Amino acid sequence: MSVELSTDLRRPAYRDISLYAPNREPCAVDLSDNTNLWGVPPAAERALRGAASAAVTRYPALYAGELKRALAAYVGADAESVVTGCGSDDVLDSAIRALAEPGEAIALPDPSFAMIPIFARMNGLTPVGVPLAADYDVDADALLATGAKLIYLCSPNNPTGTTAARHMIERIVERAPGVVLVDEAYAEFAHASNVDLALASERVLVVRTMSKAFGLAGLRVGYAVGAPALVAEVEKSRGPYKVNALAERAAVAALTDGLPWVREHVELAVVLRARLEHALRTMGLAPLPSAANFVLVPVPNAAAVAQAMRASGVAVRPFAGLPGVGDALRIAVGPWEMMEACLTALERAIC
Ligand code: PMP
Repeated sequence: MSVELSTDLRRPAYRDISLYAPNREPCAVDLSDNTNLWGVPPAAERALRGAASAAVTRYPALYAGELKRALAAYVGADAESVVTGCGSDDVLDSAIRALAEPGEAIALPDPSFAMIPIFARMNGLTPVGVPLAADYDVDADALLATGAKLIYLCSPNNPTGTTAARHMIERIVERAPGVVLVDEAYAEFAHASNVDLALASERVLVVRTMSKAFGLAGLRVGYAVGAPALVAEVEKSRGPYKVNALAERAAVAALTDGLPWVREHVELAVVLRARLEHALRTMGLAPLPSAANFVLVPVPNAAAVAQAMRASGVAVRPFAGLPGVGDALRIAVGPWEMMEACLTALERAIC
């Protein structure tokens, strides 16, 4: 049976868009998606268990006001500077739709977050990839030279784990023709943020998530911080009711009573990241310097290596021919027993 819609029903702009389909087959040790491998903050779990069924009978809050207040306190902003969404995917998609017209371009580093070119095409924009500099920093002048209306940056960057230097971000913000989106999905693990830039300029939107450090990927809670007028545009494009009632409760609990747990596990991930990088170097590999909760390690024939590791019960994310990197595996950092299982499976797969 054909899965292609008849040409007369299909939108030409959607012809080259494929479903996002990384291998999601269950695996005993799943290190493929950079979620919190220690689990859910206990405070969030308690909030979920305690939620009355009344909470699901009615619609949730239109724009998740309580969550905005908790997020604002967490990042040191006012609630008017925060917009939430169904995962940061939704926030990024909404921002791209709100801030550029179909036919315009969005420039982004290459490699970077794989969903951005997809969101760009879904909104009729042309994605323009710009290789990272030799030291894996963003190439500010090359991004600006594209003349793109929107510029997307990701720091720490997925999949490299490397950061964009603050002076490069500032240079881009000073000269960009439109808004600069700074994706900070992994900021907690870098102990660095550009939220202050977003609060100081109408041209910067910092996008974040509760899927990584906060352990709530399944609840789909993302947010962005920026000038109130900018945030309001994104909120219009996002629409109402995007954060469901249970997700809002759990997220607020994670941001309040759950915060010490989150901080403790971020610190653990940072320590174990260094230990994983060291172990990989001991194997003769050369992982990129990571500021995230994952490590990218160049390995020839990454797809075949990942497949062999899966057969040993460990899932990692393979990448083929990344610009400036080549084939590589992205490994999420988790409890050391998981890292040991990964190192054993990797050793077996590459020898
Ligand atoms: N940005 C980056 C850089 C990511 O790696 C991810 C998740 N893989 C997201 C955004 C989206 O995360 P979520 O929709 O779960 O918030």
